[in-house]
Amino acid sequence: MGLNISKLPNGPEMYVGEGFGLTQIEKVIGMARANSIWPLPFATSCCGIEFMATMASTYDLGRFGAERLSFSPRQADLLMVMGTIAKKMGPVLKQVYTQMAEPKWVIAVGACASSGGIFDTYSVLQGIDKVIPVDVYVPGCPPPPEAILDGILKIQELIKNEPLRRRESAEYNDLLHSYQID
Ligand code: SF4
Repeated sequence: MGLNISKLPNGPEMYVGEGFGLTQIEKVIGMARANSIWPLPFATSCCGIEFMATMASTYDLGRFGAERLSFSPRQADLLMVMGTIAKKMGPVLKQVYTQMAEPKWVIAVGACASSGGIFDTYSVLQGIDKVIPVDVYVPGCPPPPEAILDGILKIQELIKNEPLRRRESAEYNDLLHSYQID
């Protein structure tokens, strides 16, 4: 019986025989996670409007399996931070992040979330990575929906290729400890 190598659209390579396919469980879990993201939109200002356009019919984030938004951190696995984050808001953002269950990912959408943007002032956090780890940064002021979708595609790549044991690794724990997150 011969085996062929096949690939699902957007999926892992697998050896395929008559009536079965063989691949790695890690790759299948990665594919399932990447295509069923539950985003938590943490939108504070104008970038949030671009996100609304990204969710609406023309751009339709649902095409990427991420249409189920969550406004509860406990039922979300992708924190999308969009807008200016005041320093007073930093602890709130961190609390939302820590309430999310593992595995979880973070996108900083736009210049303000990524670096404080044009607001180089005493009251604005100069990037959310001062309080929580960030996986993908989306540039722009504001980033158009195309750029936000590009950020989603990048996070999907990360999710798909993440080793199952990453969250137990010393490297990941060190990262969290550097943010005083246990
Ligand atoms: S990056 Fe620009 S568009 Fe986005 S929240 Fe900041 S000022 Fe507004």
